[in-house]
Amino acid sequence: MMGTTHAAVGLVLALPVLVLAPELAPAAALGAVAGGIFPDFDLLVGYHRKTLHFPHYYWVVAVPALLLAAVVPRPLTAAAALFLVAAAVHSGTDWFGAGVEPRPWERTSPEAVFVHTRGEWLRPRYWVRYDGAPEDLALTAVLSAPGLFAFGRLVRRVTVAMLLVALAYTLVRKRLPALEEKFI
Ligand SMILES: [Zn+2]
Repeated sequence: MMGTTHAAVGLVLALPVLVLAPELAPAAALGAVAGGIFPDFDLLVGYHRKTLHFPHYYWVVAVPALLLAAVVPRPLTAAAALFLVAAAVHSGTDWFGAGVEPRPWERTSPEAVFVHTRGEWLRPRYWVRYDGAPEDLALTAVLSAPGLFAFGRLVRRVTVAMLLVALAYTLVRKRLPALEEKFI
């Protein structure tokens, strides 16, 4: 799944903050967007879907962070808690996409996401066939609705930017491996 889809999932996860502590909701939403994207930075450093993807370990810190935000409700604690929750959910949901290969629609990679607690890879489920698939873009669009309408102007701007990136990525996705081989 695209980073934007994970970020949009984060926006949905931040919705309860709107009810519980509306003044903290924008900070929580921005933290959730950042946490939704964060694990995929292991595309740049380390082993993708392993180095920064922790389907279990993120929860070990996310749950105390949620408790801390409940006891000390501040923008920073809310943002940190939602960052960690979104990163945890991202790591788990990559299981439902494709493997780590450059052309995931070929379905040759058995590596969806690494589970550090078990020391093994989960096999891809292909509910979303590959990152940048039309259904992936549809997920980003639908799950972005709270970002467009619920959290105020700054979050709306971030969400619009995300939607544009997701659209552009979807349009060029299948051409990227050839470009990469040519230029990198
Ligand atoms: Zn990921």
